Amino acid sequence: MKFSTKAIHIGQEPDELTGAVTVPLYQTSTYAQEEIGKHKGFEYARTHNPTRFAWEANLAAMEGGSHAYAFGSGSAAIDTVMRMLNAGDHVVMAEDMYGGTFRLTSKVLSRFGITFSYVDMRNVQNVEAALKPNTRMIYTETPTNPMMSITDLAAVAEIARAHGAIMVVDNTFASPYFQRPQVFGAHIVVHSATKYLGGHSDLVSGIVATNDADIAEQIKFLQNAVGAVPGPFECWLLLRSSKTLAVRMDRHASNAAKIAAYCEEHPAIKQTHYPGLASHPQHLIAAKQMSGFGGMISIELGSLERAVAVTKKLRLFTLAESLGGVESLVCHPVSMTHGSIPIEQRERLGVTGGLVRLSCGIEDVEDLLEDLEGAL
Ligand SMILES: *Cc1c(COP(=O)(O)O)cnc(C)c1O
Repeated sequence: MKFSTKAIHIGQEPDELTGAVTVPLYQTSTYAQEEIGKHKGFEYARTHNPTRFAWEANLAAMEGGSHAYAFGSGSAAIDTVMRMLNAGDHVVMAEDMYGGTFRLTSKVLSRFGITFSYVDMRNVQNVEAALKPNTRMIYTETPTNPMMSITDLAAVAEIARAHGAIMVVDNTFASPYFQRPQVFGAHIVVHSATKYLGGHSDLVSGIVATNDADIAEQIKFLQNAVGAVPGPFECWLLLRSSKTLAVRMDRHASNAAKIAAYCEEHPAIKQTHYPGLASHPQHLIAAKQMSGFGGMISIELGSLERAVAVTKKLRLFTLAESLGGVESLVCHPVSMTHGSIPIEQRERLGVTGGLVRLSCGIEDVEDLLEDLEGAL
C-alpha cells in the first residue's frame, strides 16, 4: 500500500458498531468493567484510548513502521524518549536544532546526570569524534530549525549501529510524506505533531515512532509511567489531518520552491536557506533522503532593523511562532523560538538578528510572492 492510501485508511477503518467512516472520539477517562478482572481490554484512559490507538496506528504506518506512541506535545515526546537513558549516559546532539530541544537537554535533563555534546552534524566526522564509551544516543534533526541544514541519515545511522547507540531523528520539518528516517537506519523518529501532521494551527501534540520491538516496549512503558499523553480530541483532529497530509505537503513544497527561487534572486536578501535549491551546500544529500524539500525557508536580511521592517510589512505571512499550518507564517528565530540558545552558538550557526524564517502555507503562490515583494 502506498503513502496516501495508508494515511487515509490505516487506523481509520469504519467503526465496527455503527459503520461511521470517521473514528469516534472516545472522550472518556475510564471504562466499565463487567466483573473484577473481566473487561474489554480498556481500563483507564492514560493507558488505553481507542481514538489515540487509531492515531498511533495511523502514524506508525505513515512512518513505514509498526509502533507509534502519542504525547501531549513534541517536547513531551522528546523528553519521554530521553527517559530511556540513565544517569551517566552521554548523548551526541545536533548543535543546530529546535531551541526547545536545546533547552530541555541543557537546562533540564543535564541535571539528572545525563551529558550532552552538541556537534555540527553536517559533517559526520564530528559525530564520530564526539563518541564516548558511554554514548548511548545520537540525536539529530533534519532539515534543522531554522538553518535548514541536513544530516546524512544513512551515514550517522551506520556510526550509531557500530557504536551500539540509539539513533533518534526529529522529522518534524520533512513530515513522513517527504522523509522516513527509519528507512536509512534510524531507530526512533519523533515529531512535533503541532506542525505539519496537525497542519491547521489548531492543536499541540507529539509522537514517537519506531520499528524496534524492544524500544517500542520501553516507550510504551514510559508513555504510561510518565503520563504525558494527548487528549482524545487532539488524536481525532490528527486523524482528520492525516487524510490530507500528502496533498498539503505537495502544495507546501511547490509554493516553497517558487518562493525560494524568488528569494535567491532578490537583491535585498543576502542568503536563502532551502534544501531544494541547487545552491544549498547539502542539496544532494537532501535529494538522496527526501522525496520533496518541504515548506520551510530561512532568509538572511542582513540586520535586525531590516528583519523588523520586513516582518512588519508582510500581510499574508502572519508574524507568529510555529509552522506547518495551511496559512503562511513568518518568524524571527532570535527573538521568538531560539532565545534559549547562547549568543555565541547562535552566531556561529548563522541564527542572526537578520534571519527570518518563512513557513510557506498552501495559499495561491502568486499572492504570497506579491506579499513578499511589497514587504521587501
Ligand atoms: C515545535 C518543534 C518541537 C517542539 O514541539 P512542541 O509540539 O512545540 O512541543 C520540536 N522539534 C521541532 C523541529 C519543532 O519545530
